[in-house]
Amino acid sequence: RFVTLEGGEGAGKSTVLAALREFLLARGFEVVSTREPGGTPLAEQIRGLLLDTHHEPPAAETELLLMFAARAQHVREVILPALQRGAWVISDRFTDSSYAYQGAGRGLDAGFIAELERRVVGIAPEMTLLLDIGVAHGRERTRGRDLAPGGNGPDRIEREQDQFFERVREGFLARARAEPRRFRVIDATRPVDVVAGQAVACLRELAE
Ligand code: C5P
Repeated sequence: RFVTLEGGEGAGKSTVLAALREFLLARGFEVVSTREPGGTPLAEQIRGLLLDTHHEPPAAETELLLMFAARAQHVREVILPALQRGAWVISDRFTDSSYAYQGAGRGLDAGFIAELERRVVGIAPEMTLLLDIGVAHGRERTRGRDLAPGGNGPDRIEREQDQFFERVREGFLARARAEPRRFRVIDATRPVDVVAGQAVACLRELAE
């Protein structure tokens, strides 16, 4: 069974992912929790290229294709084998992020992204939890993390303007409206333990 978490910066995806994992492990399921871009050694290297600020910023098309290159590897190396042996897979981001960031955010054509999804990915999550938070509020949360001692500072994409993240947020919400059966939209402005509790309640629907 395949579940994904989506949302903007500072929505609390990592905390929610940990809570979902605990919930499933306590019920005796095998759980593979993973993330994008990344999830395999090669895909994590592509993530490094995508988030690094030491080379010129990639063109939007480059960014899109690298995201899908990483995803192609992630699906084949990690997600499909796990699903085939009956594990639960929970991914922090998946194809919806490409529609939101590279599509709505960077203005690339959704039809082209859909074509890549069809040819390169070929699977979709059964349920997607969208952690929705206002851009300013999310930024406030990531600032704490980025300025923490030993932190790496904002990555390349976190340095984008608020207008970019507004388009991304709207892109996610539009996907949720288009596929209401797959999506659960969770108000991520609430305290993170409340958000995690709501996410677990959504998962319980599937697990029972
Ligand atoms: O969720 P996480 O912070 O790990 O994502 C890493 C970065 O990649 C974030 O800044 C996110 O906004 C960005 N991203 C993106 N397009 C995607 C997936 C992630 O711009 N398709």
